[in-house]
Amino acid sequence: MNRRTLLKRAAMVPLAQVAPAYITATAAKAANGSATASIRRVRPGEPGWPSETDWATLKRQVGGRLIRVPSPVAACAGASDSAACRHVLMNLRNPFYIGDQPGATQSSGWVDAWMSVPSAYAVAAKDAADVAAAVNFARERSLRLVVKGGGHSYQGTSCAPDSLLIWTRPMNRITLHETFVPQGCSAEMMPQPAVEVGSGAIWLHVYEAVTTQAGRYVQGGGCTTVGVAGLIQSGGFGSFSKRYGTAAASLLEAEIVTADGAVRIANRCANPDLFWAIKGGGGGSFGVVTKLVLKTHELPEAFGAAKLAVEATSDEAFRKLIRHFVDFYRERLFNPHWGEQVRIRHDNTLAIAMVSQGLDLLPAGPISRPLLEWPAALWDTHAARSIWAPFLARIAASPRDYRLAAAPTIASMPARDFWNADFFRKHAPGAIVSDERPGASPNDFWWAGDGSQIGAFWNGFTSTWLPAALLKGDQVQRLANALFAASRHWGVELHLNKGLAGAPAAVVAAAKDTATNPAVLDAFALAIIAGFGPPAYPSIGRAPDLAIARARARAIAQAAAELRKVVPNAGSYVSESDFFEKDWQRAYWGTNYPRLQAVKAKYDPHGRFFVHHGVGSEAWSADGFAKLPAG
Ligand SMILES: Cc1cc2nc3c(=O)[nH]c(=O)nc-3n(C[C@H](O)[C@H](O)[C@H](O)COP(=O)(O)OP(=O)(O)OC[C@H]3O[C@@H](n4cnc5c(N)ncnc54)[C@H](O)[C@@H]3O)c2cc1C
Repeated sequence: MNRRTLLKRAAMVPLAQVAPAYITATAAKAANGSATASIRRVRPGEPGWPSETDWATLKRQVGGRLIRVPSPVAACAGASDSAACRHVLMNLRNPFYIGDQPGATQSSGWVDAWMSVPSAYAVAAKDAADVAAAVNFARERSLRLVVKGGGHSYQGTSCAPDSLLIWTRPMNRITLHETFVPQGCSAEMMPQPAVEVGSGAIWLHVYEAVTTQAGRYVQGGGCTTVGVAGLIQSGGFGSFSKRYGTAAASLLEAEIVTADGAVRIANRCANPDLFWAIKGGGGGSFGVVTKLVLKTHELPEAFGAAKLAVEATSDEAFRKLIRHFVDFYRERLFNPHWGEQVRIRHDNTLAIAMVSQGLDLLPAGPISRPLLEWPAALWDTHAARSIWAPFLARIAASPRDYRLAAAPTIASMPARDFWNADFFRKHAPGAIVSDERPGASPNDFWWAGDGSQIGAFWNGFTSTWLPAALLKGDQVQRLANALFAASRHWGVELHLNKGLAGAPAAVVAAAKDTATNPAVLDAFALAIIAGFGPPAYPSIGRAPDLAIARARARAIAQAAAELRKVVPNAGSYVSESDFFEKDWQRAYWGTNYPRLQAVKAKYDPHGRFFVHHGVGSEAWSADGFAKLPAG
């Protein structure tokens, strides 16, 4: 029976039987101990949707923290030129404001995939008890559940119309521990420094507590407003992952509410299978994480940056430049010091925006101008300069083929100030944008480079882990050719911090003990090819231009196909990947998928938690409302 027939049949059941039709399957079988999932979840207006009295009961259980979710653009309904509407639209370009709205997400949608639509109700959960009440309520009434933290899912997995949202935003307490031992592990684990984080916290606030205040390092994500729980369950990469590994690999313990409403501790000694699964098995599939404890590391003295853009004057020169950069990367940058991005652009520009850690902070020699320029207030770094000198010299030696778009910046700074807004305001104000709403924390900022993505309507997004074997022998030219060929269709970003080849052995071993696709272990980079248009809110007349979006989607797919010629059966990073990835189980998790399925079957046998292309989602309709017939 296909999905349409199934839904039609469900709709035809006489009302008198329905109330319990979707529940009947659950209740009857639960009674004899062999419960199966209900075949259909309920939507507002359908029989079985909770009554006002039911909602009032839930509201009491969660201390009043139940919200009927408003549209984030409600102020614009019928008044799109009003001051109130303009104010809202302006704020919807501020990721902190978006994060404060239960009904908004950081992307506004994706062409032919999803549009951001608020849930019917939300529990603004303050603790695990609130979460358990919401999970129980949804389970008993066959409601579609969805979980949202920072709201950054590109694939819209924290957004589900007609659902009950568990909004973790208020659970954002951050506590540092000097000697943390996971519960029940005292016999086998030494106490270690750690940070305990409520699952609704965003990374900037964790960095502020751990690095700016306490002078230590914790591995999180790059974008300041990404949610902690979402990133950990993605696997999670930050600028310095080539040295510290994935964020998931730093997880020591989590508190998680599972589908049965139980509040569980997951660590190496308690529920170790669940612990492993939430380290990269994807958010929203195994339960609701309410707390996380992450190990912290010693902070290096300096973080640095190398920023430059080289324009080639012909296709041939650009092809050679790509090859030259790949060789240079392998020889000088393929190590734990260097991460972040290189963009191979359609317009024959190679734009480098890389970061470093652990190189020297103070000048150890004369500064060789004019090739190397940097803001005077930042520190010179001799080590980084000498690393880049041969690459820059080669560019300078071929003025007919190449020119620098601007003077390069090669500089370093005290690592402790890397997430300190005051430092940037003083020394590099163009690097950050502050949350300027009245009452906002003065340290709340986002990187200027992330700004264009806020509220984006995605046209396409693909990612491909590039094995380090492509850096060897005659594979190098194949790789360079593929990068050039891809860039004829759409620009390619190499995220060099999102592959662990070249990382310390302990970092690779720790990532191996997570659910992330093992392809990450041998990859030197994650190649991302993506494009987006302006925020789209069709309900207020701001519809996306579908013709443009689809044309871009085709170009992005063609570019990705060029890369995948040299990486057949490529792995892809679950949270930065194609909504339409066909072979997603293998692409996201590789050989780990069967083990993830077993964990899902144990802790959520009836599929109460569903996300698009999440573990176990193949048993459900695309919207997660109807269970598909087995087989
Ligand atoms: C602008 C931008 C920048 C990004 N930068 C990076 C980066 O530097 N490195 C990187 O690795 N990734 C990055 N990502 C991807 C990002 O890490 C993932 O999308 C991540 O899942 C987002 O988490 P969130 O809480 O912000 O998002 P949400 O959309 O709230 O959640 C993402 C998924 O996790 C689930 N989830 C959230 N909280 C919980 C919880 N407490 N319990 C159970 N499930 C939960 C949601 O249901 C959803 O399925 C970026 C994304 C964007 C949009």
